[in-house]
Amino acid sequence: MENEMISKNFIEQIIDKDLAEGHYDHVQTRFPPEPNGYLHIGHAKSILLNYGLAKKYNGRFNMRFDDTNPTKEKLEFVESILADIKWLGADWEDRLFFASNYFQQMYEAAVKLIKKGKAYVCDLSADEIREYRGTLQEPGRNSPYRDRTIEENLELFENMKNGKYQDGEKVLRAKIDMASPNINMRDPVIYRVAHITHHNTGDTWCIYPMYDFAHPIEDAIEGITHSICTLEFEDHRPLYDWVVKELGYPQPPKQIEFAKLYLTNVVTGKRYIKKLVEDGIVDGWDDPRLVTIAALRRRGFTPESIQMFIELVGVSKSNSSVDYAMLEYCIREDLKNKAPRVMAVLDPIKLVIDNYPEDKVEYFDVVNNPEDESLGSRKVPFCRELYIEREDFMEIPPKKYFRLFPGNEVRLMNAYFVKCESFVKDENGNITEVHCTYDEETRSGSGFEGRKVKGTIHWVSAKHGIPAVVRLYENIVDEEKGKLNEDGTLNLNPNSLKVLEGCYLEESMADVKKMDKFQFVRQGYFCVDAKDTTEEQLVFNRIVSLKSSFKLPQQ
Ligand code: ATP
Ligand code: MG
Repeated sequence: MENEMISKNFIEQIIDKDLAEGHYDHVQTRFPPEPNGYLHIGHAKSILLNYGLAKKYNGRFNMRFDDTNPTKEKLEFVESILADIKWLGADWEDRLFFASNYFQQMYEAAVKLIKKGKAYVCDLSADEIREYRGTLQEPGRNSPYRDRTIEENLELFENMKNGKYQDGEKVLRAKIDMASPNINMRDPVIYRVAHITHHNTGDTWCIYPMYDFAHPIEDAIEGITHSICTLEFEDHRPLYDWVVKELGYPQPPKQIEFAKLYLTNVVTGKRYIKKLVEDGIVDGWDDPRLVTIAALRRRGFTPESIQMFIELVGVSKSNSSVDYAMLEYCIREDLKNKAPRVMAVLDPIKLVIDNYPEDKVEYFDVVNNPEDESLGSRKVPFCRELYIEREDFMEIPPKKYFRLFPGNEVRLMNAYFVKCESFVKDENGNITEVHCTYDEETRSGSGFEGRKVKGTIHWVSAKHGIPAVVRLYENIVDEEKGKLNEDGTLNLNPNSLKVLEGCYLEESMADVKKMDKFQFVRQGYFCVDAKDTTEEQLVFNRIVSLKSSFKLPQQ
């Protein structure tokens, strides 16, 4: 019990207190994205946090599109967002809402404020409003339209709604306090005129509510108890509270802020991602170098790995960046036991076993994952000509190089010992073939103990190998060199994508399906690309290499 107390995050502590003091009799959270782009890893944090809290407290989780700004929103994004949330494992059941369906209620709420003398129509231009607003050091000045009568305000707001004014000609403002130390409270604009077609409500409205007015109303209408958002809204909380109080909602929702998730060496801002997509620098919103949910999925990350990552990151009140290596740690942990291990040669050279019969093929029984016997085993063909990695042979080896070089013997993984006898070079000095002899006695599984070798290398039968394209990724920006250039553009890593064309996979890979994940032994974890793989061509994305410098912080 004590442990449970200690491990609760600050939001859970607030909720506990609210429930104990009877402010609420249930917990209800929501995830409120604007459908103006794809979700990214930062959003995953918000989704899993809100969904997790609802689950933990036996409450409800609402999925709500905050689609009150008609300019940037698109249906494409609505669909991608829902697919991503579902994939992540958050379930809104039948609780899917669109803020735009509340436009009528928001309008009525605005009328209610006018009738209370708490809102007025203002004719100042946007620039004038800014000028009247004052600064952090200086109070603002009252608008000359601030003292319009309730009747006049009602009529003008009605006219706004009925399309009598141009965009920007008039706005509705909350009447709060032009001298407030919090600038957000200096008579904020709550409704504007905008003659724009909305993706859901069409041309029904030509006035649209501002975020700070709309959001608390959306929460209150849905019976949200804890409205969790990111730190930049902290200064807006007094306005949030003002709106729900003036509108007299019973059990008004409470806003709680937490720190955004930032990751090193990646791009999370929607604005930056959008630019990379629009400029064609990446292959769409799901380019595997991005950290949109769609990109992570395509690259081969699992929902479990992202859940683990978000869990490890925790919830806090102060902004900081999390090392991308931590996300890599989570996917390795998740795939370690799940993914079958297979042999794949990414940069092949031919290895010929001169004393192995030319037409002979034998099959080795190889376990799919030594960490989990239940994943079974498979037959791997072996014959006279194999592919091995170019880097597993050296003509003149440095010290401590235990792989193939003239005169040295290594183990071919799951097969025999082979000894390098000679090699062939082309006219440019590139190694084209390595010739070996094998020792039949050393067959894998035979219990041979005659002598030991220091190196083990993987291989693929040349006759049976399945050709594939394999893509290796590096971080798209390099934090060390600065994420941004002086002109504010992203400092992109020119080597973020490397495409290997002539790779070979072992025969068992002939029937893989899109999104299947494997460990290529000695190399890393790879996923069959769902977009570029065709009947003719297998394409793999490297999810993560096997090497890691990341250590879990001591708990
Ligand atoms: P971005 O800043 O990337 O453009 P956004 O805040 O504009 O994102 P919204 O659609 O408004 O995107 O976000 C939906 C929810 O996700 C909000 O509650 C927001 O606070 C939260 N959110 C956005 N980015 C992050 C992040 N990096 N970490 C945690 N939560 C986030
Ligand atoms: Mg936003």
